[in-house]
Amino acid sequence: MNDTQASDIVSALQKVQQDIRTQELRHGRLPGSVQLLAVSKRKPLAAIQAAMQAGQRAFGENYVDEGVEKILALDDASVEWHFIGAIQSRKTASIAEHFQWAHGVDRLKVARRLSEQRPEGMTSLNICLQVNTDNEEGKAGVGFDEVAQLADECAELPGIKLRGLMAIPAPRSDFQQQRDVFARLRECLQTLQTRHPGMDTLSMGMSADMEAAIAEGATLVRIGTAIFGQRDS
Ligand SMILES: *Cc1c(COP(=O)(O)O)cnc(C)c1O
Repeated sequence: MNDTQASDIVSALQKVQQDIRTQELRHGRLPGSVQLLAVSKRKPLAAIQAAMQAGQRAFGENYVDEGVEKILALDDASVEWHFIGAIQSRKTASIAEHFQWAHGVDRLKVARRLSEQRPEGMTSLNICLQVNTDNEEGKAGVGFDEVAQLADECAELPGIKLRGLMAIPAPRSDFQQQRDVFARLRECLQTLQTRHPGMDTLSMGMSADMEAAIAEGATLVRIGTAIFGQRDS
């Protein structure tokens, strides 16, 4: 990566941070209440380092092996790593050993494994339960009608800490329609909070629907393309 590419990342990161601050104000959110997770999947170490040098400290990865490789290579305890991909049972140990957060928890079996495999001496792994907001076939996540039971079960597990909800809604171009689905997720979290007051996180909003998510109460937005550019497929 040359200096131009690195400085492009820094300017894009600053623009996203500025957009978040502007949208917080516009939608009556407290300044600083929305955290930026920089999604660095399929981007090289140099891209992450450019963002780190500009002060970014939270990164999201979707592929376990790639993420672990980056975590070990960068070896920086001040950086927080979030696993945001779909979680396969056979990959839970690597997630539990290397990440601070897992956003895609959608079944008890996976939650139990993450809890059991979290190494002693590490703080509990923060988890969000993924909701399949549009009941899309083949997409990870529990239905709105199943999430309360899963939350009750996860709350009992010692190696994980239940922090909130996450969703990747079906793409919509209309702003109000984007808001409607995020509003449902927020209402779902508010209901759960009466029993689980530690659930303080709404992980929702990507490059294409960030403002609608902020308007509806996102506490963490997961942004890749708007910071690092398009990913090669
Ligand atoms: C890739 C990805 C993102 C970031 O998407 P962009 O559109 O590049 O901002 C956010 N969340 C999840 C779960 C992802 O897989």
